[in-house]
Amino acid sequence: MKRIFVTGGAGYIGSHVVKALGERGCEVLTYDNLSTGHAEAVLHGDLVRGDLADGTLLRETLRGFRPDAVIHFAAHIEVAESVADPLKYYRNNTLNALNLWEALRELKLSNVIFSSTAAVYGIPEHNPVTEDTPLAPINPYGASKMMSERVLADLDASAPDFNYVALRYFNVAGADPQGRIGQKYRNATHLITRALKTAKGEYDRLQVFGSDYPTPDGTCIRDYIHVDDLAAAHLAALDHLIAGRGSAVFNCGYGHGYSVNEVVAVAKRVTGIDFRVEEAPRRAGDPPALVADSRRLRAATGWQPRHDDLEFIVRTAWDWEKRLG
Ligand code: UDP
Repeated sequence: MKRIFVTGGAGYIGSHVVKALGERGCEVLTYDNLSTGHAEAVLHGDLVRGDLADGTLLRETLRGFRPDAVIHFAAHIEVAESVADPLKYYRNNTLNALNLWEALRELKLSNVIFSSTAAVYGIPEHNPVTEDTPLAPINPYGASKMMSERVLADLDASAPDFNYVALRYFNVAGADPQGRIGQKYRNATHLITRALKTAKGEYDRLQVFGSDYPTPDGTCIRDYIHVDDLAAAHLAALDHLIAGRGSAVFNCGYGHGYSVNEVVAVAKRVTGIDFRVEEAPRRAGDPPALVADSRRLRAATGWQPRHDDLEFIVRTAWDWEKRLG
C-alpha cells in the first residue's frame, strides 16, 4: 500500500484523483487551504487544512506522513485573473511550489507528480501538440506553471534520487459518474460549465468568444478530457515513478477536439434546453486550436481513455450541476 501526499486534494481535479487513489487502496493525506476547495469533496483519507506558504506545518505534516509520492495540485487556475494579478500567480503557483520542493528535498522525499497545463504551449503552430513543442506561454498562468516545470527539470538533473512527472492538462471537464464530486467554483469561466449554468438559468445567455477563427466552423477547437480519465493518468504516472522509470513530461488529452459550436450543440442536446447563445468578440489569448498528442503517455504508461465521449462528459457535468441546485 502506497502513501500519497496530495496538495489541493479538495479541489476539482485533486478530489477525483484522491477518489481514484482510494479505490486503488492507497493511503492518502490531502493538504489544502480550502481557498477554493471543499472539505466534503475529499472522499478518502485525511485532510489537513494548511497552506503551502506555511513551511512549518508543511514539514511537520510531511515528516509525520512520510509519503512514497507527492501529487501537487494546489494552484490558482484562472487565465484572466493571472493577467490582472500576475504576482498572485507567481507567488502561489511558482513560489509555493518551490517551498514544497525544498521541503521534500530536506526530508529526502522523491516522486513528484506536478499539475501542469497546455497553457505552457501558448499558441502552438501545429496540432496535435507534442511535448517537444517549444514552450511559449502567453499569460502569467502558463508562465507560472512553465517555471515550476523548469525548476523540477533542474532539480531532476542535480539530484539522481529525485524524480517527477509533469502532466500537461488540456481541457478537463465532466464529473464523478456517481455524482459525488464535480466542479464547484464560485465563478465559472470554462465553456462546458458555463453552458450548463446557462441552461440552468444562472446566466441569461452563453457568449461564444470568436466565430472568425481559421477552423471549420470559425470557433475554437479544444481537446476535452473527462476528469476520471485524467485521474487515471495520475495513477499511471504514479506507477511509472514507483517502478523507477524516471522523470517524464506527458500531455493529457484524447488527441482530437471539438469546436465551441459543437460543444454548445451537445450541451443543448444533453440538457434538452435551447438556451440563448450569442456571438461575441474573441477572448484575448485564446489559441484557435489546442489538441494533445498523447501518444507518449499511452506508450510509456499504457494509459487508455475510458470516457472519450463528449456526450458522456457533458452528461456527468450536467448531473452534477443539477445536484448543486
Ligand atoms: N468559451 C466561450 N464562451 C465561454 C467560455 C469559453 O466561447 O463562455 C470558449 C473559449 O473562448 C475557448 C473555449 O471555449 O475557445 C474553451 O475555453 P475554456 O475557458 O473552457 O478553456 P481554455 O481552453 O481557455 O482553457
